[in-house]
Amino acid sequence: MLYNYIQCPHRLYLDLFEDPAKRNPESSFVRLLWERGIDFEEQVVAKLGIPFLDLSTLSGTEKEIKTKEALRRGAALIYNGRISTDHLVGEPDFLLKRKDGYIAGDIKSGAALEGENSESEGKPKKHYAIQLSLYTDILEQLDYSSSRTPLIHDIKGRDIVYDLSQPKGKNEKTTWWEEYLKTLVEVKQLLKKEIITTPANGTICKLCHWRSYCFKNLINSKDLTLIPELGRRKRDTMQKQVSKFSDFAHKPISDFIQDKKTVFSGIGLPTLEKLHARARLLAGIDKGAYTRKKIKFPKTGIELFFDIETDPMRDFCYLHGFVERQQRNPATERYVAFFADELTEKEEERIFIDAWHYIKQHFPCTVYYYSHYEKTIWKKLGAKYPELISLAELETFFNSPLVIDLYNDVVRKYTEWPTYSYSVKDLAQYLGFRWRDESPSGAESIEWYHRWLEFKNPEIKERILQYNEDDCRAMMVLLEGIQSLPLKAQKSN
Ligand code: SF4
Repeated sequence: MLYNYIQCPHRLYLDLFEDPAKRNPESSFVRLLWERGIDFEEQVVAKLGIPFLDLSTLSGTEKEIKTKEALRRGAALIYNGRISTDHLVGEPDFLLKRKDGYIAGDIKSGAALEGENSESEGKPKKHYAIQLSLYTDILEQLDYSSSRTPLIHDIKGRDIVYDLSQPKGKNEKTTWWEEYLKTLVEVKQLLKKEIITTPANGTICKLCHWRSYCFKNLINSKDLTLIPELGRRKRDTMQKQVSKFSDFAHKPISDFIQDKKTVFSGIGLPTLEKLHARARLLAGIDKGAYTRKKIKFPKTGIELFFDIETDPMRDFCYLHGFVERQQRNPATERYVAFFADELTEKEEERIFIDAWHYIKQHFPCTVYYYSHYEKTIWKKLGAKYPELISLAELETFFNSPLVIDLYNDVVRKYTEWPTYSYSVKDLAQYLGFRWRDESPSGAESIEWYHRWLEFKNPEIKERILQYNEDDCRAMMVLLEGIQSLPLKAQKSN
């Protein structure tokens, strides 16, 4: 419950009180996540090399009785036990004996920390911290806790200590333990229906089993979070003054400005103007997408529309796809793909190098991609396989004016659309483009790749390639669409 509450408070509310028949069926990707989590746990446990008590085959009261017995006799390691107090229950993946008691830990088939990169060592993930706090709290109440320093064993094989007495971030005073206690109070209130939760449109919804149900409600209530980039936090700030995007759109923007500042704390004037312009489009006051600046794109003989597919849980890039076009002539369009047939570093390196050589062979040409992801992953691959491509070379490539992040450099900066998000899927569909697959998504592609590795069925590979090709083509359609958008002055009214 705590874990789901952190992801979205409304999800917990619906899980508890709404009719389960209204849920979306579980997607094959979510099923894969579960299966992979269990597989990974089993692999980690098999490699432990130390004796441990395995309680994974038991459940409920029996599991709990055996866990208590093992704690009492001081078992060195308890795998998949169950601990509880009057109001709390937890099933930590492992309980590890220290000199003066136990610490709890969880095995995760993802990275233990978020925001890890060459410039930052990353920080604990909130949902992991809250989950580990619960186990630690129960151990303390049972008088078996050694310290507030539980562990996450992650996909990289690391044991990362979550020190719960530490502040949540650099500029934060609240510790993880305090955050846990606060969350616990909120969840208890929610259980008694003392707090009301509401849906909020966000990326988290994509994998949630309430997505269709919530989306219908969001549309009916004309919720502010349907405005792209206006998330739950901004909505909650604005809600006292205005709760529907249509009301927001119909009022003059001056109603929300006082002394040259917006009346919403934490929302600056440029952001307010942008959100108001988007609300007007969604409400149909302003008709159709437009651009706020005449955009000049480079004129090169060849254009490449570039999109990659990765499996973030395995930290593996399995496809680099390009739609190539010459002299803007549709007859010259062709799809070029570099696909990893095996889940090996050798194969990942091979396709990366081949894709790089392919680009170099055409450069100078214009390369389009959508959002930071391609750049981030390519830099990561450059660091992982530095022998043939230097990071400096990659840096120069992505800094070239011919290499364009269509989302950040163009769509977000200069254009507005009457859509609920600015994803390439929503914008290309608005422009009339249709994916050939009936359920196109990056998440589904990961599941298809998983099945390709298992069965090597050419039809599955074809589905992955076709989906990637359509993503590249969608970008091309978007580029054409942007070039024919009408120009509109900056102010929305
Ligand atoms: S669909 Fe979104 S808003 Fe609704 S419960 Fe799920 S995560 Fe929350």
